[in-house]
Amino acid sequence: MIRVTSVQPDTIAEELGLREGTELLAVNGRELEDFLDWEFLTAEEAILLHVRQPDGEEIEFDIERPLGEPLGVSLEPARIRRCANRCDFCFVDGLPDGLRDVLYVRDDDYRLSFRYGNFATLTNLKPRDVQRIVEYRLSPLYVSVHATDPMVRRYLLRNPTAPEILPQLRELAEHGIRFHTQIVLSPGVNDGAVLEQTLRELYEFGPAILGCSVVPVGLTEYSKHHLVREPTAAECRAAIRLVEARAAIACRERGIHWAFGADELYLRAGVELPPAEIYDGFDQVENGVGSVRWLQRQIERGVSELHGWTGRRIGVLTGTAMGQLMPMVLDPLARHTGAAFELIPVVNTLFGASVTTAGLLPGTALQQALAGRRDLDLALLPGESVNDDGLFMDSMSLGVLAAAVPMELRLSRDFIDALHEPVAA
Ligand code: SF4
Repeated sequence: MIRVTSVQPDTIAEELGLREGTELLAVNGRELEDFLDWEFLTAEEAILLHVRQPDGEEIEFDIERPLGEPLGVSLEPARIRRCANRCDFCFVDGLPDGLRDVLYVRDDDYRLSFRYGNFATLTNLKPRDVQRIVEYRLSPLYVSVHATDPMVRRYLLRNPTAPEILPQLRELAEHGIRFHTQIVLSPGVNDGAVLEQTLRELYEFGPAILGCSVVPVGLTEYSKHHLVREPTAAECRAAIRLVEARAAIACRERGIHWAFGADELYLRAGVELPPAEIYDGFDQVENGVGSVRWLQRQIERGVSELHGWTGRRIGVLTGTAMGQLMPMVLDPLARHTGAAFELIPVVNTLFGASVTTAGLLPGTALQQALAGRRDLDLALLPGESVNDDGLFMDSMSLGVLAAAVPMELRLSRDFIDALHEPVAA
């Protein structure tokens, strides 16, 4: 059963009398469990919909509609599938106390992997889930492999019953499912020979594995430092050598790069980022893989559409990691727009200075960085630093921050998206 949270006006759902609180029970006789069932089972032109209204009345609707016309309901959020693992580097363990409850949920959900590109380990898949992945063709999935060696993987996941990943992937691949994979690099555990083996076995698995990224483990002040550490510069350089060796093989044999190091891996290694061409389709850009090159490309493509910024002063707030790389992104933007961009790297006061990603910046740190800055016409904030409800990690809302600082604020993912309209004079 799925509950309706709202009904859009002038839609089939409104015409049928569905409303907030209506329970969607079944489509064509099949019980509904979550949004996946709803989306896939209602994709037909003609459906039989069984509902229970908030007053308890059960009704069956025989619906025919033009293909593609939405029924017009919003659904309650799916119950998140909990994680069966306890990785030492888990981000949840690295959270301070007192944040929003939802941040402490360890999710490991193949549905969100398909829908949003969240990485899942697949260790909590039941036969019924496998069936659904196959039936609904949930592809590509984003999978955290970490190591193909079952013992190493179980150790990393702290899950002695984690099933072997390669047979799991094979079963799904035989039904046409494809995967983007990642390896979170934990030094002394899955680097060196283990990393070489993992990259090789995933590559040799065949074209169902579309690519593999290597991301250095990231810890906060609160993480389990007695159990896990971040890789050194030398360890990151060694990992880059393995990634690039595998990419060279993939280039020769398949004409794609396939293996990628996250930007953070290059940063920590002190090695220059590779060019944009190596990231294939930028499939893992949300995972911090090729983000800087992607930004540069977005700016190159969109900058000629930006007008009216000459002489404006724009503050660009970001985490301290991107702070080092941002000048190469901002210089062309300043040249083309005539605006002055000031980079404002912000230290993370919530998780500690070692957490350098922009997406985890708390509102209070951004507020401190902008206090008294009347010289700025506009401040650009990392788009990924707020959730869908406009809340930062520390639960400050964007509205509260905007009221507390003296300039206009805009969220941005690639600068171009936030600069189409100049700020008021
Ligand atoms: S898989 Fe590991 S890192 Fe991810 S939520 Fe579970 S315990 Fe945390």
